[in-house]
Amino acid sequence: MAKHTIVLIPGDGIGPEVTAAAKRVIEAAGLDVEWLELPAGATAIDQGFDNVLPEQTIAAIRAHKIALKGPVTTPVGKGFRSVNVQLRQKLNLYAAIRPVRNLPGVKTRFEGVDMVIVRENTEGLYSGIENEIVPGVVTSLKVASEVACMRIARYAFRYAVRRQRRRITVFHKANIMKLSDGLFLKCSRLVHDQEFPHVEYDEVIIDAGCMKLVQDPSKMDVLLMENLYGDLVSDLCAGLVGGLGVVPGSNIGDDAAVFEAVHGSAPDIAGKGVANPLALIMSGVMMLNHIGEEAIAGRIKTAYNNVLAEGKTLTRDLGGSAGTNDFADAIISRLP
Ligand code: NAD
Repeated sequence: MAKHTIVLIPGDGIGPEVTAAAKRVIEAAGLDVEWLELPAGATAIDQGFDNVLPEQTIAAIRAHKIALKGPVTTPVGKGFRSVNVQLRQKLNLYAAIRPVRNLPGVKTRFEGVDMVIVRENTEGLYSGIENEIVPGVVTSLKVASEVACMRIARYAFRYAVRRQRRRITVFHKANIMKLSDGLFLKCSRLVHDQEFPHVEYDEVIIDAGCMKLVQDPSKMDVLLMENLYGDLVSDLCAGLVGGLGVVPGSNIGDDAAVFEAVHGSAPDIAGKGVANPLALIMSGVMMLNHIGEEAIAGRIKTAYNNVLAEGKTLTRDLGGSAGTNDFADAIISRLP
């Protein structure tokens, strides 16, 4: 029997291409693993399931606790409830962790960027409570609960201590959303004051925070925010270090964890073999660290850093002409 059983969700669009590449790299680096491949997204409907998130897929993640997931397509303004929102809520994957760093050989406007976004993943405007009050008037409810706000604040501070980060900055809009963002702030302050007073802490109104980010992101460290802000700021920050092809992520709960890149299914390049698999490979490295396979994670990291630094085999988003598989092969050939 393999040492690890990991649920693999190829997903839609570029998902099958980048998950296949990540799987190959992880296996080549020596992980003793059995993959359980299960569908989600439009692919699940195409395979005859009646939901974009089939019960089998959820049950497998519950049973095995770890999944590596490709992106899924979510139709705009109609159709099924988002797979990602369902997955995060059903499995209570309350913390999204997205490290955003400069990479060797990837030239961007800024140097010294090394921040981590901690996003509350289960409520806010993603609660999906929308109503048509009267024809022509709709509302979306933004939900903030003390339990979820305390939980994400504690997670962020614990993460900061474990990773020896120096400061937590909360992005908020409590000047307008005085109750919901007010509660988020109140809980963050409480956790700081009562449990982690030795970690530096500050707060910034999100509009000014975005300006600061694009002026000099190297000044930022751990950014803590509610669901929607975390979604938007993640893509903004990805743009600061080379784009969506290089930013990994994890969705962590007390009972399960799902690792996936920040990017979506990229329908514009799907099926062409040109997507950058690095964000998912990096998500795989986060997964390996999470399951205690630090040595294998370290080997993959060394390999992709070398490939990037050499600059010969880069995908199009990073200015090269290599395909998804060429890039994965280059990483495999550089594994120490
Ligand atoms: P996207 O992230 O798919 O793409 C935005 C742009 O970045 C596109 O130009 C795309 O080609 C490029 N890009 C993204 N990933 C790339 C990669 N690995 N390599 C090279 N280029 C890459 O965002 P979108 O177009 O707004 O969304 C497409 C679909 O993905 C939507 O249905 C959306 O709901 C879904 N989505 C899913 C997830 C997820 O499953 N976690 C996350 C975000 C968006």
